[in-house]
This record gives sequence, C-alpha cells and structure tokens, in this order.
Amino acid sequence: MYLNSYMTSGKKLSEMTEVERGKDMAPLLYDLLTTQSCSEFGEDKIIKLITDFIPNRTTLANGGNFVTHEVDEKGNLFVRVGKQKKVHARNKWTSRVMFSCHLDTVDRSNKGLVRQLYSDDGWVQCGIVKPVRKLFIGDKEIDSNWVLDKLVKEKCKVDFDNYTVFKGKLHGTDDTLYEEWTNLDIACEFKEFEELSKNILGADDKLGCYIMCRMIAKGIPGLYVFHHGEESGGIGSRWIATNKPEYVQDIDYCIAFDRMNYGDVVTSQSGGRCCSDEFADALCDALNKHLPPKQKMSKGSGTFTDSASYTSLIPECTNISVGYKSQHTDSEKFDHEWLEHMLIPALLRVQWAELPVKRDPKARETWGMGDYYGYGRRANTVRGYDGYWDFPYDEDDEFRYSQSYKVPQQKSLSLGTTDEGRKNQFKTIQSSVDRHRYAIDNMVPFDIADGFFTKESEEMKIERVLMTFDKADMSMRDIAKLLIEAYEADPEEMDF
Ligand SMILES: [Zn+2]
Repeated sequence: MYLNSYMTSGKKLSEMTEVERGKDMAPLLYDLLTTQSCSEFGEDKIIKLITDFIPNRTTLANGGNFVTHEVDEKGNLFVRVGKQKKVHARNKWTSRVMFSCHLDTVDRSNKGLVRQLYSDDGWVQCGIVKPVRKLFIGDKEIDSNWVLDKLVKEKCKVDFDNYTVFKGKLHGTDDTLYEEWTNLDIACEFKEFEELSKNILGADDKLGCYIMCRMIAKGIPGLYVFHHGEESGGIGSRWIATNKPEYVQDIDYCIAFDRMNYGDVVTSQSGGRCCSDEFADALCDALNKHLPPKQKMSKGSGTFTDSASYTSLIPECTNISVGYKSQHTDSEKFDHEWLEHMLIPALLRVQWAELPVKRDPKARETWGMGDYYGYGRRANTVRGYDGYWDFPYDEDDEFRYSQSYKVPQQKSLSLGTTDEGRKNQFKTIQSSVDRHRYAIDNMVPFDIADGFFTKESEEMKIERVLMTFDKADMSMRDIAKLLIEAYEADPEEMDF
C-alpha cells in the first residue's frame, strides 16, 4: 500500500454536516442509501422500500397509466407503468422503453453497522463507526502527507513523492516506476481504532433506484427493471437476456442510470457499440435543453452495466451519468444538488418513446483488429446466426420460446466462463488499459539523440522504446525506417 492512497481522504466527516432524513434529503433516497445491500444480502430490503414507495397495482397514475410490479425467480424487480391493449383477449403493455438500474452495491463488509450520511457543499458521503488503521511514528500519528514530509525532512534532510512501509520501516521514492525505494530507517507501525470513518456509500446504484422511483411516481410509461447482482457480474441482467428474452421482446430502448460523473451518454460498453449515434445525440439534446451550461451530456464510452447484457436483443442500449464519483471506494460521494435540481427534472421531461431507433441489435460491432461492423448493417458475422435471431414478433400473443431462439453469446472474446469471471476480466482489461495509457502519457519518450538515463536497466530501456513506438502510433515500416536512420547516422555526431 502506498501511503498516498492511505491518506488522500479530503475533508473529515466530523467537519461535515450530518444529513437529516426528510429535512435535507428525500426520505426514499435517504432510506435507499442507508440500507446496506449487496448481491448476497439486503436486496430484499431495497425491493421493499421501492414497492412501498410506488403506487400499488390498482392505482391509476398520471394519464390513466397502470402500475404493476413483480419479482422474478432470480430476484430482479420488474415494475411496469403504462397502458395495456387487448391482443387476442390478453393484455399487452404498449411501452417500448425499458429503464435499468441495480439493487446491489459493492458494500458487503461491516454488515449491520449503522450507515450515516454527511454532506459538504452539496456532496454526500457515508460514514460508519468501524475499526480503522492509523500510522504511527513513535507516538506521533501521521494523518497527512504534510506531517509525514515534515518529519522525514527533519530526520533525513530530504523528502519524497511516495512513501510506503516495509518490514516496519518507512521507505520513500520519487518515481515508483523507475527509481528504487530508499530505506529511511524510520520505524513506524499501524494501530487499529474504532472510529467514525468514511465508507462505501452505494450511490452506485441507489441513485439509479431513486431516479426510477421518481419516474414511476410521475407516471412515465416504461418497463423498469431493478436488477439483482450487477456488481457480481451482471447476474440478473445476463439471466434475463439468456433465459427470458421474451421479457424484453417489444423493447426498443434500454436506458440504464448507472454511470459515474455528470456528462456521459454511453455509446459503447464492454468493448462493443450499444447504441446508435443518432439515438445518443437526440438523447443528449433532449437532456441538455434542461441542464446547466457547465455540465452538458455528450457521447462517451463506459465499462459494463446491465444494459450491456441486452445489446443483442434491444436496438438502443445506453447508460447515463447520475453524478456519483469514486464509486467502489470509501470516498464515494455524489452531487445531491445536481441530482435533485438538475438531472431528475431533465429526465422527467424527456419524450423517451420519440427518440430514434437506428441500431440493428443483430449486427455486431466490436472494437478490435479488422472486426468492425457498422451498426445498421445486416449481421453477417457468423453464418447461421440469422436463423436464431428472428424472434417471432407475430401478432399472436402466444410467444413460443424454445432453445432454437437462444441468444448466441458474442464469441469474439473468449474470456471467463462464469458471469463473475467475465465481469472481472472486463474490469481487469479496462484497468490495465487505463494504467497502460497513464504510463504512456507520463513517460519521457525515447529519443536517439538523448539516449537513456543512467539508472535505466536493460528491461526499462526496452519498455521505454516500446512505449515510445506505441505513443507515436508507429507502424512496423516507420520503425524500420528509424532503425535505418540510426544505422546510417554518423556516430561522431551523436552525443550519447
Ligand atoms: Zn453500478
């Protein structure tokens, strides 16, 4: 553990204001955030909060829309709002819009401890009283980098950008990638205390649950799916897509509320396109009319969420930013002001069913070498798939689902075999890509005229040269040219 991450805590909870239920925050949002849920436990409590809040099945909401709800055998909560029309003596829902969020969070430890909410400048965080580790040098507690720098300077006359503790001794380095750690020979130890400390908030994705409840209460027609186990590999959504595709057979749009930050309408997830540019542009326009100039929505790409499970069934799948940050960490927070006063009012005004439908869910478009298929084109990827894809959209309401209509999995990536494995693989790939990008952006490119640093090992030299090629996006031909130039250059003129 680098001490930098141990101490980047920002403002203390004790310096923030405790959020009061019903006064500072809507009771439903407060209850959702303070009720712990993960894929193993607690989702039932979230379902109860939601179903207690929404109008019951006999209630007519705005404009004579019916509201019904049910939980499927996997634990996904389905709420339908809309009108029904009689087809062959059976009721059929008319809305073609699906909204998506998830019931679970990654907050699975400290089970049962009381969650409290704190706010500062419109940002909300979570605190619980739990055991915390603190670093001590002698009997002095080290609670900031500033204190540590000062102490190290006093003892060693230098300071470092990064510190770590190894075998009870403090070590420092200015460059974790290229320089060795220096043993500062300062003894230190971690001690444990019971203390009010920051905890995973679970705004990912309680905000999604809350937004959908508000839309249901407003009577906005749609199929609202509150998914089980998104954080454990999209268990609920993958199960629906694989085993119950008929649940979404009449759906044109799947809009998830599960994206960090402010500005994204996601057009690609998990390495493939999930909606058309026309759809995303129209949705951005519809939202931006009501959003402040500083924080407009625009197209972006995202990692996995439940809507990605439906890209081969539903034409336009996306994920929208809902204003949480640092999700999956104890520093998780969300912008309460923006959610209540900007995002939700904007969402309540979108005419969802009027958005364009352009993407062909049968076409496969993945990002990879020579495997590019424009959306809207006929699926021609794997011979024989076409047969599988013709869902019987006949007017006869007796939908016959059989094995032959089973959704083929995208075979382009043979990742983990279990849901969990696949999700983890995607996360690993995403984080590797991010780290790789970061390293490349921050390194000093190799230049023949400058040569290498004195401390660079053979391995480091190779890595840096490779990264330089990568950064400059050089082809094999470019590299060959460079090699020839280097060979033909006059060694006398080169000052290595
Ligand atoms: Zn999420």
